[in-house]
Amino acid sequence: MPRTPRPLTVAAAAHVALAGCAVLWPDTRPSRESMGGPANGALLRATRVPERAPGFSVFRTESEGGQLHTTRRLRDAVVESAARVARLAPGGAELVVGDFSAPFGGRIERHRSHRNGRDVDLLFFALDRGTGRPTRAPGFVRYDREGNPRDREATVRMDFERNWLLVESLVREDRFGVIYVFVAEWLKQALLRWARARERDPRWIERAERVMHQPGDAAPHDDHFHVRVACTSDERLRGCVDSGPRAWWLERAFGKLDAAPDDDSDYAWAVARSPELAAPRSGRRRR
Ligand SMILES: [Zn+2]
Repeated sequence: MPRTPRPLTVAAAAHVALAGCAVLWPDTRPSRESMGGPANGALLRATRVPERAPGFSVFRTESEGGQLHTTRRLRDAVVESAARVARLAPGGAELVVGDFSAPFGGRIERHRSHRNGRDVDLLFFALDRGTGRPTRAPGFVRYDREGNPRDREATVRMDFERNWLLVESLVREDRFGVIYVFVAEWLKQALLRWARARERDPRWIERAERVMHQPGDAAPHDDHFHVRVACTSDERLRGCVDSGPRAWWLERAFGKLDAAPDDDSDYAWAVARSPELAAPRSGRRRR
């Protein structure tokens, strides 16, 4: 006559079964967030960004039409960088954060990219033109190379200190994977000049010089930073698409762009299962 299993035995069996499952089916959630590219992709498992956090607030709330869904890496990059700026330069206004992506990605109003959870717009930190005190960025204000507003009626000028600290915070953490900070060339040069004159850490100046970039096929970005994060090599094997040059520190952290040909799924599986195959195949260059 069969014995009724004791509850402990059932629990133990379930534990073994689940542990076995975990080995056969590793948790791939972090790798399934983004599909496709910034201008044609989708967002599978979005993370919602809070409307307020220390040193951080959104330009438009969700009820005002703001888009606040993204990948965990980009959320961490922005939330942690805003907090670091507030810590290093206390007494400033909050970082004003524009659109991320829609809950499932895809096309959104006001943007050509922002489709796979890897893009966000950050308004420039501003100072009051009259008093020189920090003030909340009133909107997308365009600045010239001196940091003065192009619109002579505007009451703000650029806060180079906090904008530099923001860029520095975004590039110094490998795990953020910041691949681009799109910004007008004249503001890039002004920020680098500011950082060099104040002897900021040359490692972050070198990285900032690499990732700050005025896009050739879009507005020059003299009224906000547009930040983009990379796909990890694992994410790329699962359909996340990167483009453009890769910074040397991201090659180390994220693997090379050409880890596998897109059309060869057998090779992709082999790479996913074998860490040696996933390692870069050729020597790394610093630029
Ligand atoms: Zn943008």
